[in-house]
Amino acid sequence: MEHPSTLISSRSKTSPKQLLVALAGNPNCGKTSLFNALTKLKQKVGNYPGVTVEKKIGRMMGSTPDRSVDILDLPGTYSLAVRSPDEQVARDVLLGQMPDTPRPDVVVCVVDAGNLERNLYLVSQIKDLGLPIIVVLNMMDAVKREGKVIDLVRLSQRLDAPIVPTVAMKEIGIEELKKEILQGTRRVSTQRLQLPENLQHPIERLVQVLKEEHGLNPSLAYSEALIILSKEDLKNEPLVIHSPAVKEVIMDIRQSLDQQEINWRSAAIEARYAGIQNILKDVVQQNSPRRISWSERIDRILMDKFFGWVFFWGIMGMMFFMIFSVATIPMNWIDGSFARLSDGLKTFLPPSELRDLLTDGVIAGVGGVVIFLPQILILFFFIGLLQDTGYMARAAFIMDRVMSKAGLHGKSFIPLLSSFACAIPGIMATRAIENPKDRLVTILVAPWMSCSARLPVYTILIATILPAASAWQKAGIMLFLYLLGILGAFAAAVILKRTILKGSTPFFIMEMPPYRWPSLRSVILQMWERSCLFLKKAGTIIFSLSILLWVLMSYPKSPSADISAQLNHSFAGRAGHLLEPLIKPLGFDWRIGIGLIGSFAAREVFVSTMNIVFNIGNADNHTEPLRAAFAQATWPDGSPLFTPLTCMSLLVFYIYAMQCLSTVAVVRRETNGWKWPVFQLVYMTGFAYLASLSVYQFGKLLNF
Ligand code: GDP
Ligand code: MG
Repeated sequence: MEHPSTLISSRSKTSPKQLLVALAGNPNCGKTSLFNALTKLKQKVGNYPGVTVEKKIGRMMGSTPDRSVDILDLPGTYSLAVRSPDEQVARDVLLGQMPDTPRPDVVVCVVDAGNLERNLYLVSQIKDLGLPIIVVLNMMDAVKREGKVIDLVRLSQRLDAPIVPTVAMKEIGIEELKKEILQGTRRVSTQRLQLPENLQHPIERLVQVLKEEHGLNPSLAYSEALIILSKEDLKNEPLVIHSPAVKEVIMDIRQSLDQQEINWRSAAIEARYAGIQNILKDVVQQNSPRRISWSERIDRILMDKFFGWVFFWGIMGMMFFMIFSVATIPMNWIDGSFARLSDGLKTFLPPSELRDLLTDGVIAGVGGVVIFLPQILILFFFIGLLQDTGYMARAAFIMDRVMSKAGLHGKSFIPLLSSFACAIPGIMATRAIENPKDRLVTILVAPWMSCSARLPVYTILIATILPAASAWQKAGIMLFLYLLGILGAFAAAVILKRTILKGSTPFFIMEMPPYRWPSLRSVILQMWERSCLFLKKAGTIIFSLSILLWVLMSYPKSPSADISAQLNHSFAGRAGHLLEPLIKPLGFDWRIGIGLIGSFAAREVFVSTMNIVFNIGNADNHTEPLRAAFAQATWPDGSPLFTPLTCMSLLVFYIYAMQCLSTVAVVRRETNGWKWPVFQLVYMTGFAYLASLSVYQFGKLLNF
């Protein structure tokens, strides 16, 4: 008969009488509770050398002089792949590379049994390291409460490791765990993750080069290979930094995977999850009806196929209503301040070109943008609130049902929603999408989410079509315009995913956080950050554009002092006239043309340009005077220029055209070249033109 201790394969610096056991697991799985139950008060707390990660070690209760067991509570981690200090410590300890800490003889993998899929991910990675493991299924009380049954025998077989069920908080299962630690047979599982065929060879190659270059043992080489392959940023990977040969092999493998349209960033991760799902489907059963948590009760309503949508649109409707009713109050204050500033300058400075530049150009231009700050604040307040309460993940999930129809991933929802405020943070948020094609599609359609820069344009045009509309009616129309943008984005995504960016969309894996009371502090912090970005844009880009446009509209000087003659004579006026034949079929004249030209750099410039073009009391950015001027504007033959149809055509143009230099710049940066931003500029603006053309021409046919 063989004594268990002779089976211990990885005995290291500790003597056979002394056993070092490491507790590893996700944060909040109950490691510390287990540690306390196992060690009671015989604990020592310090730091690992050189880092601020806490090291907790304790002597297990029931240790005898001839057999003592030390327990090490490792920092909680979800994975061994990300090199955060906590994860680095956990990994180094498990590999025996931590000074002062011998390599553990056994790893007790603590698992939240109510969350097996996510928790087993780490277990699966730890198994790769080649240490004997014991799997503790903690929180079995919660599992029972939820009416789930876990087949422990089968799970133990499938994981090829002993399993101990526990309720650490109530010290249930602790004796069994001690027994397993003291007397259990310890061996390293040789079972490996089943990789999809197209990954097997690349991983083998990588394992080979890691063994040759760094002398790693097979299990460590395998573990490293799976981790390194998925790492976008190889700069901090010690094995890669030290070995050009490894880097070369990785690059080569990635290139060939790219050619096979396999996403090397996620392939190994997905394989691991697939392996876990495969185990779980045989092991976990849902039996008796489960007790339901508050979050779940709320979700029953908010995630319902029907009420989910009602709520979703209710929230969106409320958000837009707030933007168009409540926001008008501070908007009037801002408006008034800029008007006073302008008036002040006019009484203070003698009439001069410089004074005109300051009042008509700079103050009108910047003021015309800053006035929208309250609306942006409200938008970000809602976005922050949705994120903080946990509803955003639900909204992403609800939208995933729709977005998957367009071949988009639920993860695209947050970038797209952020794009309602501004496409720039939206496009930057696409970095969270692993699949490069999904990410590119999201970038390409994001500017069709109506951003806040369109608000001024929408506001003035809606007021022109329906001067007496109530706030609710305006919000309704606004919602419809947003919907048009969304539909366009949706359609474009479908087409892109079927043509130039073909590829399958991975499953929606996103954790649903429980509902929480929002933290006002973090919401306000976010509002503050966004507003600073917005104001910076107003202060730089819009500022310079305002000056440029003012110059273009003021020069060359016309012999006549008449303002409209001056405009006609100016560079901008000439450009507008040049453009008129092209835009007349859309219902626009040369003056609107000037607005369009200005808008190509930034949409919101339209309003300030129109203020100058129609010679509105320059510093007044309020809607009413401009609306009145629009109502009186005519074509040379005396027919009204801003008919409802022209306004609608213009609205459609502003929904779809790519009129934002900052977005072009960000897309160039995020896609690493000019190809995609140019493509986007052409397809969006081309589509905008055709859409406006159709609206105007069909409208005319129907005598609208
Ligand atoms: P750690 O982050 O892994 O160290 O986890 P902790 O030991 O700090 O436990 C996290 C939370 O889970 C605490 O609130 C514990 O009281 C709770 N907890 C621990 N074990 C159990 C258990 O078996 N059942 C339940 N329901 N809760 C537990
Ligand atoms: Mg802990």
